[in-house]
Amino acid sequence: MSYESLVIEERSTNKKKQKPETKEIPFGRKFTDHMFTMDYDEVKGWHDPKIVPYQPINLDPAAMIFHYGQTVFEGLKAYRTDDERVLLFRPDRNLARLNKSSERLSIPALDEDKVMDYLLELVRLERDWVPSFEGTSLYIRPFIISTEPNLAVAPSKSYTFMVILSPVGPYFSGGIHPVQINVEDQFTRAVKGGTGMAKTAGNYSSGYQAQAKASETGNADVLWLDGVEKKYIEEVGSMNIFFKIDGEVVTPALNGSILKGITRTSILEVLNDWNVPVTERKISIDELAEAYDAGKLEEAFGTGTAAVISPVGELNWKGKKMEINNREIGPLSQELYDTITGIQRGRREDTYGWTVEV
Ligand code: PMP
Repeated sequence: MSYESLVIEERSTNKKKQKPETKEIPFGRKFTDHMFTMDYDEVKGWHDPKIVPYQPINLDPAAMIFHYGQTVFEGLKAYRTDDERVLLFRPDRNLARLNKSSERLSIPALDEDKVMDYLLELVRLERDWVPSFEGTSLYIRPFIISTEPNLAVAPSKSYTFMVILSPVGPYFSGGIHPVQINVEDQFTRAVKGGTGMAKTAGNYSSGYQAQAKASETGNADVLWLDGVEKKYIEEVGSMNIFFKIDGEVVTPALNGSILKGITRTSILEVLNDWNVPVTERKISIDELAEAYDAGKLEEAFGTGTAAVISPVGELNWKGKKMEINNREIGPLSQELYDTITGIQRGRREDTYGWTVEV
């Protein structure tokens, strides 16, 4: 792999864009002044790392990304603290997961240490874009696309890795908000041996029909069951899922079809630290419904970078409506939310060493 030193081409001051002035920033529509790009070919490996003004890219219509979806992505955030520091939350985990996803999609690996340096450099250059309103952050989207113009069904011989940045508002105003979720009984997100453990485009677009079905009935999201028996709980659209049943916290074990969320990993570590009993195992939807009927389903919450913790207020499964904790935020959900967001925003001591200052 050959890496050259980073080239930075700054946008001229008079062409700089307007930064958001309120916390009402719609997700993923506004981008900062600069982006990072780096190319791959078989001779040079990953090469030509650059920070350039944010701009459209030129691709051949035959570029393989458009035809066979050989692509991977990541999502993480930069947070501004009260004392004006900028922190990233476990970014090494995102780069490691990007490489894991790439391996699954036959994309050549990146050098995680070098890419971390480039990422930090980009966020440093754009640090004024990290918003300071309560609950806001700068969303970071690293991704790789296959660029070889070739319709053959085979791995591309060239790629581009890019990082774009987007200021985002709070997922829910007020921080944390119970959501209504539909348990999907027809469509499948992923199967063992497929690509469920990777962050790749097709996993998301193949969920849109189920998402539409869920929203027609007033649900905010989909809870996926396993693709073989439609029996075991997997995860939500872009969140992992936890339940508190009779004093014990459970979350589906990683089985190859579930994404290994960084929030999920962090919550498991925090719960262990607090000596709260927590188990990663198979959880069937029948077991969950039985626990609900017996009054033992105390809390349910999704976990992910977007909202950190989303309490589940209502679960709908084949006409059965399960109202959890009176649709209120459970004490465990709240304490986990306060702990993780406190660390991310520099308001609680980071005893785990999870944050990286930009
Ligand atoms: N599952 C899926 C399918 C996701 O897209 C995400 C978001 N990355 C998650 C779970 C949560 O992962 P993380 O905690 O790393 O954001």
